[in-house]
Amino acid sequence: MIIFNFRKKNILIFLIAVFSTVILILTVLSKNNHKVGAQKEKKFIKYAEFTPTFEALEYTMNIDIKTHENKNHISWIDTLAYLSSRYGGDFEKYRNSHVEDFVKRINDGEKIEDLTKNLKFFFYYKEVYSAVLGNFLGEYRIEKPEKEAKQEYGLKVFSPIAKTFPFCHYPDFGALRKYGYSRPHLGHDLMCAVGTPVISVESGTVEAMGWNRYGGWRLGIRSDDKKRYYYYAHLRQNRPYHSEISEGSKVQAGDVIGYVGRTGYSTKENMNNISQSHLHLGMELIFDESQKDSNNEIWIDLYSITKLLQKNKSAVRRENSTKEFFKNYKFEELSTGQS
Ligand SMILES: [Zn+2]
Repeated sequence: MIIFNFRKKNILIFLIAVFSTVILILTVLSKNNHKVGAQKEKKFIKYAEFTPTFEALEYTMNIDIKTHENKNHISWIDTLAYLSSRYGGDFEKYRNSHVEDFVKRINDGEKIEDLTKNLKFFFYYKEVYSAVLGNFLGEYRIEKPEKEAKQEYGLKVFSPIAKTFPFCHYPDFGALRKYGYSRPHLGHDLMCAVGTPVISVESGTVEAMGWNRYGGWRLGIRSDDKKRYYYYAHLRQNRPYHSEISEGSKVQAGDVIGYVGRTGYSTKENMNNISQSHLHLGMELIFDESQKDSNNEIWIDLYSITKLLQKNKSAVRRENSTKEFFKNYKFEELSTGQS
């Protein structure tokens, strides 16, 4: 019995020694690898979420618009980045009064650099929100019924659904989808009738067009600053796209680009396998070109943004001979980019 215990003890000590050595070697190796990796790695944002609520977007946007000609222009990107770095990204904590406090401090002469110098993630949030919203506000000119077009500053991106066409939506980002393999829903669905004209949210270039087994007939449009890739999916069977759209073509914010349908979920083209017709809208953020078609794509929640875009709907008319829809009013962007 004593001998057995003695042996058992020795074996145990031996095992502990081997185990500790292995752990030590692994730790050293992983640290070294990390160092090598860090030297090679390019610095760009690899993970981002978009959490501001509709209320926060609307309130800060209105202040941005109202103050855009003032000495103290209060950029909504700065305001949202300031709030987010104070909330740790959690906009459940949002209050209009927090924005008012921020505005008051700026107007009382405090500098944004001083207000944010102790906020560790301010510049991270600022970069993320610039990537999402950087081209949403600016100078534009739009024809108006019975009025002369005049230059304005405001929201210059459009709702993805044409004016007067109804749709409904609810928060659905991240919900599980089961076709093909179980995966989170990386976009936002707008339920509406087949044939509803789909509008390009932002100006850009058509990068992808054609059939995709998940999205059916789909369109991928890249913003002019290259930071956003818009994905419009499940377009109409047989005639998904606007006649003027082709791969590589330029589109303008507010243009009709296609029609809502229920195609997708098939390796065979032109199949209507989606039960309820809807537009799937996605936005991928691209901080570095290597992210574009990688395993680390950054797609964001568009629920609050889609609500905000209801403030700017593109009016369309139908050409009877071709049954094609066109935007009604000429639209011109006069400035690009805000950060
Ligand atoms: Zn979807």
